[in-house]
Amino acid sequence: MFTPIFPFLLLHLTILMMVSLSSCFADQPHQEASLPLPFLSPASDHAHLRDLEIDGSVEFDDVRAAGTDFGHLHTSVPSAVVHPKSVADVAKTVRLVFELGQSSNLTIAARGHGHSLQGQAQASGGIVVNMESLKSPGIRVVREGGSAFVEAAGGELWINVLNETLKQGLAPRSWTDYLYLTVGGTLSNAGVSGQAFRHGPQISNVHQLEVVTGRGEVKICSEKENADLFHGVLGGLGQFGIITRARIILEPAPQLVKWIRVLYTDFAAFTRDQEMLISEENTFDYIEGFVIINRTSVLSNWRSSFNPKDPAQASLFESHGKTLFCLEMTKNFNHGDLDSVNQEIDRLMAKLSFIPSTVFMSEVPYVDFLDRVHASEVKLQSQGLWEVPHPWLNLFIPRSKIHHFAREVFGKIITDSSNGPILIYPLNKTRWDGRTSAVTPEEDVFYLVAFLYSASTSPEAPNSVKNIQSLNRRVLRFCKKSGVGMKQYLPHYEVQSEWKAHFGEKWKQFAQRKMTYDPLAILGPGQRIFQKAKPFS
Ligand code: FAD
Repeated sequence: MFTPIFPFLLLHLTILMMVSLSSCFADQPHQEASLPLPFLSPASDHAHLRDLEIDGSVEFDDVRAAGTDFGHLHTSVPSAVVHPKSVADVAKTVRLVFELGQSSNLTIAARGHGHSLQGQAQASGGIVVNMESLKSPGIRVVREGGSAFVEAAGGELWINVLNETLKQGLAPRSWTDYLYLTVGGTLSNAGVSGQAFRHGPQISNVHQLEVVTGRGEVKICSEKENADLFHGVLGGLGQFGIITRARIILEPAPQLVKWIRVLYTDFAAFTRDQEMLISEENTFDYIEGFVIINRTSVLSNWRSSFNPKDPAQASLFESHGKTLFCLEMTKNFNHGDLDSVNQEIDRLMAKLSFIPSTVFMSEVPYVDFLDRVHASEVKLQSQGLWEVPHPWLNLFIPRSKIHHFAREVFGKIITDSSNGPILIYPLNKTRWDGRTSAVTPEEDVFYLVAFLYSASTSPEAPNSVKNIQSLNRRVLRFCKKSGVGMKQYLPHYEVQSEWKAHFGEKWKQFAQRKMTYDPLAILGPGQRIFQKAKPFS
């Protein structure tokens, strides 16, 4: 599959791997030189990349965009961007860097849609592999043993996967709130949304993967084949391999959804209802929620897309700046099933204790519901408010601590929600596979709390990056001090000791998998978990 470029380097590879690994697992990033191999400068790195014979292309000049992301908080420009056309292109690229080993500076970051928040898909001075270029083998539905799956390239956007599967009346079961993210990007984290309480995160809905490991080998993996790699890659933050293809479980797609929002002022009632709903067998198909702090016009904003069930009552509702908790639910249905779905909704709603005058409802095609955030994106794009810094904070909070968290954070640390939505909804741990690399709190039920802020680039603005980051730090400090047992989702840490604490009992396995699948720590440098040893000079 490849031609050795430097046979003399290969001679040293085994020793070199051992040396590199010792640096990977040191508590702090390790800088020591080791073997007397000739140092290859970035210029010679470039020369090797120029010699790389691939179906796609290697870009050296137009590389700046690959050094940024949706977060707009970190910038690190790569040396080159590889645009692969085939899996072999990805494998050849990784294999080249693997063979060069410690004699080169190069690392490799797979980049999906670049919607990371803290530079996770970046590779400073290294290679960014633009996964969206890899279109082969296209998106196709496969049927096997009575089940249906969709196969898609790792760089495919979820919106494209949805549009293609809908042609056959099918759709994946588990989603993210936003669909302009890639299959490989969300599977490297977890992929959570309001369906996850029942179907688990997206990583619980994968049947098979094709992966290029950090050694440049192409591996097929699943529950039955190369299972350790399969579980490692799911939620693996891009550390063990590059997902080039995924086979994802499908279900019959509904045609329409009833989309409902109701409000609470009592947090205990809100969470009691959320937890009751996610524990029921016959329940809503999607359950989320969000917090509204110190805002007045929120209900009038909804009226453009949601009708209040009782307009006269709803117009009398005044929040008086109170903190409100909005429960958001959907029920799927098909044309002709309206009466039965309405009855089912009435049955479920009768069990809830929301404020009666705050029922808002809408009926939309399934695809419009799943793609709902894109409409906001288009609007924000037109106002120049999409390409701004996003100092987001995503946390998993155990159920037993969510009340303490809410008491201390909502209204005290976070005094209004005007900087962006604050999501809060419970998830069932039983739907997560403990063998994957994803990290969740200990308890059976935990909450996703997501502070999805947009910041101003002006340092003077109240919502400056600095001010919002300081709020985030206060929330994190509170979690640490009060022993909430929180785990970060889309985690970001600067030093390895923090990563060890994040992974807890899973760290040993995570480090072992790194040693097995990416022994030179070539992949995923932007996560800052492991560091490739520096070249000898
Ligand atoms: P990138 O940012 O390009 O990459 C993310 C990480 O995965 C990097 O470390 C990268 O190196 C690695 N990676 C990328 N592709 C591959 C691959 N093929 N193989 C191996 N590693 C790879 N997340 C949720 O769970 N639920 C949500 O509802 C949700 N909503 C979001 C809404 C918006 C507007 C945004 C910006 C993000 C949202 N996210 C959500 C977070 C999102 O899932 C992550 O940021 C995800 O990493 C972005 O996907 P991406 O394709 O842009 O990946």
